[in-house]
Amino acid sequence: MKILITNDDGIHAPGLAVLEEIAREFSDDIWICAPAEEQSGAGHSLTLSEPVRLRRYDERRFAVSGTPTDAVMLGMRKVMDSPPDLILSGVNRGANLGDDITYSGTVSAAIEGALAGIKSIALSQVYAREGMGDDVPFAAAAAWGARTIAPLLNAPLPARSLININFPPRPAAEVKGIRVVRQGFHDYSRGTVVEGRDPRGYRYFWFGLDPIEHTLDHGTDLEAIEEGYVAVTPLHLDLTHYSSLGALAERFGK
Ligand code: MN
Repeated sequence: MKILITNDDGIHAPGLAVLEEIAREFSDDIWICAPAEEQSGAGHSLTLSEPVRLRRYDERRFAVSGTPTDAVMLGMRKVMDSPPDLILSGVNRGANLGDDITYSGTVSAAIEGALAGIKSIALSQVYAREGMGDDVPFAAAAAWGARTIAPLLNAPLPARSLININFPPRPAAEVKGIRVVRQGFHDYSRGTVVEGRDPRGYRYFWFGLDPIEHTLDHGTDLEAIEEGYVAVTPLHLDLTHYSSLGALAERFGK
């Protein structure tokens, strides 16, 4: 089995090394093609207005001067000798739960794989507020990664669908198990923008520093993580809101 590994935290991120270890439990045919720099929050963006560079570290390890989507495209089309059987993205430093998904470079890399018809899995390690930066522990992902992926390898996935996995912020021995759950929703209430001034007197802004608030809904990824389970969520790319089609069409006279 040929596996392409990528992420959005960059080629030197600790979570990428964790994912490589997980992947080696299934195959020796591992290829890594990941952004050279952190791309968290890049979503499904594709670099269109500047050249994208590929840097080779060794025979099967490459850094891309662009987004996670750029990295998957180059990985599949220019780096690998033939297309992968599986794309793994992560292990992200931080949650990709509920509405995080549309901002997520980690999930978007898996979306790009799904669009190409390749089985694709995004993996993220949720962390507690006190763990930040390089201090985020990946213990739950490291211990539970392979056993969460294994049942998915032979599972048929519908076209244009992918799998999103989140690991709870607990020591591996305290993880209670694995739940297959739907995507939850955050309460989009505050969205505070933190403002400061740089040493030259110019204003700057930081997004995404609020604790994310959500009302836990039964059977969601958010609830599973809160209760100490690995959350496995099948996602699909058809964003159509089917039940609105009829009523909306009536407004246009048909
Ligand atoms: Mn990230």
